[in-house]
Amino acid sequence: MKLLEERILKDGKIFPGNVLKVDSFLNHLIDVDLLNKMGEEIYRLFKDCGVTKILTIEASGIAIAILTAQFFNCSVLFAKKSKTSNLSADVYITSVKSYTHNATYRVQVAKSYLKKEDKVLIIDDFLANGEAMRGLIDLIEQAGATLVGCVAAVEKGFQKGGDDLRAKGVRVESLAIVDSMEDGKIVFRKQ
Ligand code: 5GP
Repeated sequence: MKLLEERILKDGKIFPGNVLKVDSFLNHLIDVDLLNKMGEEIYRLFKDCGVTKILTIEASGIAIAILTAQFFNCSVLFAKKSKTSNLSADVYITSVKSYTHNATYRVQVAKSYLKKEDKVLIIDDFLANGEAMRGLIDLIEQAGATLVGCVAAVEKGFQKGGDDLRAKGVRVESLAIVDSMEDGKIVFRKQ
């Protein structure tokens, strides 16, 4: 998506550890107009798939998930991170290794909010090694719901998450794919 790529080039900042910071418009200070347009684009891609629910993970995926959900007219469910080990019969739980925080979280959703009849679209801000998406897919599988596809605002194409998921037959759509960000230069994949 050209608009997003241009904004990344203008305001994105490269940090050590292959971290791209976009917190001046995507996941800290939020440019609602841009995210709204991203939501419209995601709707264009998946509008014929019968999406009944959007699933994301707290906190960075929530804004884009909500702005997208307006177009699908569906609810957003966000998986909650918790470091406690309280097991409850009422939740589906999985674990996710965080790319940016070097910690493993247990993430959970209430069973009552994810049903086997649901057709679920996963949305997150970034796709790197694919841990977050894998955890969310696990929650969908536990519920017996249907995965429609995965959307990342930004995929780092030089990390393996996106390609691993595609190799498993998952439909992955990324609004911008960064193929490299060496020497301070961000190069996007032509899509
Ligand atoms: P993965 O689970 O695919 O390895 O990493 C994706 C998750 O880590 C996302 O939820 C995102 O919050 C975070 N993440 C991974 N890489 C980056 C990055 O370059 N920049 C930012 N801001 N977050 C990232």
